[in-house]
Amino acid sequence: LKKGLSCQVDLQPVLWNSIGGLDDVKAEIQQSIEWPLLHPDALRRMDLAATKGVLLYGPPGCCKTTLVRAAATSCHVTFLSLSGAQVYSPYVGESERIISEAFQKARALSPCILFFDEIDSLVGKRSTKSGQSRVQERILATMLNEMDGIGTRLDMKTDALKHTSESVERMANSECDTTDKGPLSNGVEGCEILDGIKVSEVDMSHVIVVGATNRPDMLDAAILRPGRLDRHIYVPPPDAEGRKAILNIQVSKMSSKDLDLDHISDHTEYFSGADLKNLCREAGLTAVRELSSQGQLNAESLCVRQHHFATALENVRPSLSKNLLQQY
Ligand code: ATP
Repeated sequence: LKKGLSCQVDLQPVLWNSIGGLDDVKAEIQQSIEWPLLHPDALRRMDLAATKGVLLYGPPGCCKTTLVRAAATSCHVTFLSLSGAQVYSPYVGESERIISEAFQKARALSPCILFFDEIDSLVGKRSTKSGQSRVQERILATMLNEMDGIGTRLDMKTDALKHTSESVERMANSECDTTDKGPLSNGVEGCEILDGIKVSEVDMSHVIVVGATNRPDMLDAAILRPGRLDRHIYVPPPDAEGRKAILNIQVSKMSSKDLDLDHISDHTEYFSGADLKNLCREAGLTAVRELSSQGQLNAESLCVRQHHFATALENVRPSLSKNLLQQY
């Protein structure tokens, strides 16, 4: 692989039990991400097509990225991640190259989860305004190529990329059928021609592409079609029980005394998981400040108590709201 590849192998393990609540979502993720990677033969025997792509959507800070990391940890597969900011480049053809390299690396390191964070910034709806983003169109085309198992050669010239962009409309309007040869196929296994671009043999069977977004409405419909990111999983904000579970996980890492987590959970409506983590941190800092101001700061007597949370709640505000949640 060329130098400068922007996608990273994430080595930070995440355990399922470090995620509070979200039991249904965890089960759905296990089914759609873990099963195809761990038990492809079993699925084949039941004539069940394995998922190729999953979209996790929902409000910010509610665990989308962490859930995918947990899936990768639990099935011991490579976790490659890429965000919009890592892809955009002012150099012609560079963004597409980064995407193609990410897929190539995913195939080389398979079984693998290839994760696109904030995928709406990569494959957002195409605008009718000309020139809005030729780059975005080409990124979309590259993603569609790769997801359809066609894959573009990394050594293709930039004039060839032009064709990719022009073909985006046709690709976007095509229903991709992975079991059958799609409309773009020339019928030759592993070697296909797309608008003059010779493309190489690819095997996506052990790669699952996962996208995460807070704005599912902004995604181009083409990326959501069958055979692409066709499994859509909503990751909701934590309810009271979920909030208590998240608080429990966070508090268990701290020295604490006489905490009423039910009470805190009841007073943290519209807090995301990230907000709750922040709240616990703020309560911990409040405890440290309190002891420090009394000149008694030492590890033995330091612990977080209910009134520290009460103070923290005055400073940490929820990032979610009724309005924001209504869009999901
Ligand atoms: P964004 O949409 O802003 O990228 P996200 O939905 O991907 O956010 P994460 O990045 O997974 O959210 O989570 C943000 C932080 O909040 C992480 O540190 C994560 O551990 C914590 N967090 C969120 N929800 C939970 C949860 N249910 N249990 C434990 N920790 C959580």
